[in-house]
Amino acid sequence: MSENNPFEIAQRQLDEAAAILGLDPATHALLREPLRELTVNIPVRMDDGSVRIFKGYRVQYNDARGACKGGLRWHPDETLDTVRALAAWMTWKTAVVDIPLGGGKGGVVCNPKELSPTEQERLARGYIRAVWKIIGEDTDIPAPDVYTNPQIMAWMMDEYSIIRGYFAPGVITGKPLALGGSAGREDATARGGIYTVREAAKMLDIELRGKTAAIQGYGNAGQFAHQLAEEILGMRVVAVSDSKGGIFQEDGLGFQATLRHKKGTGSVVGMPNTISLSNSELMEMEVTVLFPAALEHVITAENAGQIKAKIVAELANGPTTPEADKILHERGVYVIPDFLCNAGGVTVSYFELVQNAYDYYWPLATVHERLDNKMTAAFQAVHKMAQAKRVHNRLAAYLVAVERVAEAAKLRGWV
Ligand code: GLU
Repeated sequence: MSENNPFEIAQRQLDEAAAILGLDPATHALLREPLRELTVNIPVRMDDGSVRIFKGYRVQYNDARGACKGGLRWHPDETLDTVRALAAWMTWKTAVVDIPLGGGKGGVVCNPKELSPTEQERLARGYIRAVWKIIGEDTDIPAPDVYTNPQIMAWMMDEYSIIRGYFAPGVITGKPLALGGSAGREDATARGGIYTVREAAKMLDIELRGKTAAIQGYGNAGQFAHQLAEEILGMRVVAVSDSKGGIFQEDGLGFQATLRHKKGTGSVVGMPNTISLSNSELMEMEVTVLFPAALEHVITAENAGQIKAKIVAELANGPTTPEADKILHERGVYVIPDFLCNAGGVTVSYFELVQNAYDYYWPLATVHERLDNKMTAAFQAVHKMAQAKRVHNRLAAYLVAVERVAEAAKLRGWV
């Protein structure tokens, strides 16, 4: 068993929950593996006329509660096991926020930073030509994830619509507003996480206003977490980082200035009037809230003993290993686990699907209110379970989610 294979980690987390729930062997075995998976090789004509073959995946983990749902990640280190783990976590994520969807995930092994926009478009369309038979409004609905964005979703939706011969906005979520996207989808992952931090602080009797936060990762989730930690929680974000390194400013890094620097230079590093620090130094800073908002496997047995934050709000998928979870729990660090904390993205994706199906669009305030209701209810369910069973929050979230998926599978007669 390796500590850094995300799928083995996902399976171990499930095993622990299955033991406490007393899941029967067949249900446990069903939930331990994806129902279906597809590997594709996508030829893409590059701008210089050459052709490169990109490997892509789509894993449909479980659809007992509804169509598979989950993002597409474009990353040079993508593997089938990473996609399997992320697809499993999507299954638990849609269950914990109680939306009528299952879990899936996809990925392409590539470095999008080295692809021109036209190459990205051809890759996006090539991916859809390779997987279109297994996706669809009622079967499996992709969305953005690490290094994919609304423009990429728009190309993919267009390619799918051309193949099918009708306008099919509901095949993919996270689309631009002009093509059937939902108001509020862009910041939904961070916003949902911020709502759970607000709830956690109430439980812990912590006043967040004026307190400090650090954010590891400055993509979609990290950037909006910065903005909303300031706007909604009144916090002082003192440190942020991206793949090139981190920066610190005691008085708080203003969101607008930091975003301008990141957009202008490609990184947060080197912003005037800040002190440079490494990603690992950022993780161990004395702050009230730490947001891991990048990739998996950043809180491990090695550094869990040094985490000084009171609340760890996991906007990333899979940032904490099972060994680290135990250490954080023993040390009294309050973890808001990934598939609860970052469920705001898929929740607004679900709202987007509903709006596409009805061809009728909601105002932003409606999205915010409904997202808050969903996140708050999910947080309360997990918190209550953690107290009732005296387990840490991740295990509690698993108990809530796995029980719901198992019940659906049983009622359908699968097990
Ligand atoms: N990729 C996001 C996640 O990991 C969003 C998935 C979705 O909207 O389907 O939750």
